[in-house]
Amino acid sequence: MPYKVLIIPGDGIGPEVVDAALYVIKAAAERFGVELEMKMAEAGDVALRKYGVAMPQETLKLADAADIIFKGPIGESAYDVTSLIRMRYTLYANIRPVKNLPGVPALKEIDCVFVRENVEDVYVGAEYRVGGVAIALKIITEEGTRRIARVAKRYAEMRRRRVTVVHKANVLRVVDGLFRDVALEELRELEVDQMYVDAAAMELVRNPARFDVVLTTNQYGDILTDLAAQVAGGIGLAPSGNIGDAKAMFEPVHGAAFDIAGKGIANPIAAILSGAMMFEWIGRKEAADAIRFAVEKSIEKDVKTPDIGGRNTTLEVGKYISSIVSG
Ligand code: ATP
Repeated sequence: MPYKVLIIPGDGIGPEVVDAALYVIKAAAERFGVELEMKMAEAGDVALRKYGVAMPQETLKLADAADIIFKGPIGESAYDVTSLIRMRYTLYANIRPVKNLPGVPALKEIDCVFVRENVEDVYVGAEYRVGGVAIALKIITEEGTRRIARVAKRYAEMRRRRVTVVHKANVLRVVDGLFRDVALEELRELEVDQMYVDAAAMELVRNPARFDVVLTTNQYGDILTDLAAQVAGGIGLAPSGNIGDAKAMFEPVHGAAFDIAGKGIANPIAAILSGAMMFEWIGRKEAADAIRFAVEKSIEKDVKTPDIGGRNTTLEVGKYISSIVSG
């Protein structure tokens, strides 16, 4: 049975990086005999302008039927598309590996995985305005924390068995306190430390090599992963997976980056490595490894976009990487 994959190109640089990534995904699927049934659908600012809704019914129907969603970044309507997909399919684990790529100048050595809770926290969308007062609810549940802590545990067991739990329980004593206590309980068999989010931001710049698996809440994870991506060499390189029990969505960490859209200079590596994570999720590690190898090869051969010191276009990089994958 083929895997049903819904492709959402998204906004800004989304269609460019997704297009480049599709060359690579198709090459890997062909070489390793992975059957993918791919469909395309619109969502985001483009859809909002065209149909008056960021997530059209047709796209939603296709997303419901898909096993996997492969998505580019969404612009202004990110909450109505990205957050909607995460919530609707309970994609509770946002996995963001951050690692240097050989040949890419980086601030520091870093090799860690962020395990970010993905469906709770202030992102549940419970915001209110009462006159001159605005209120946002921060929801953290014991069940949700246990579930994400178990994911962090699995990653730590495959790595160096070390988890840093990041929170702000000295201020948010009840909500972050719950997250901390439940997480520490779930992780008791591993080497665990805890850090306030402000200290974690500082440590990620000062001594990022100290981190192995970082377990944190939705909003802190959102912010810290952009920071960590920059430490590793740039936001154009950072992939992510949104994982649930039955469905998953893969997308680059970066946003729509309207400032460089349409210029053909966006780095497709974040989207391409998100494709590698997709193959890993369906249990085809050999395809994921081939993509990662090809990405490293493209950098070694100087086939790269300007953000990492190259002169190639988005599509040239995608096609080059796909040719290496094809063998
Ligand atoms: P958002 O607000 O949705 O997070 P954004 O459009 O502000 O997104 P970011 O992803 O935060 O963009 O990126 C910040 C800047 O980094 C962009 O404006 C762009 O110049 C650069 N950038 C982002 N992604 C890429 C990429 N894939 N290749 C090259 N440069 C990028």
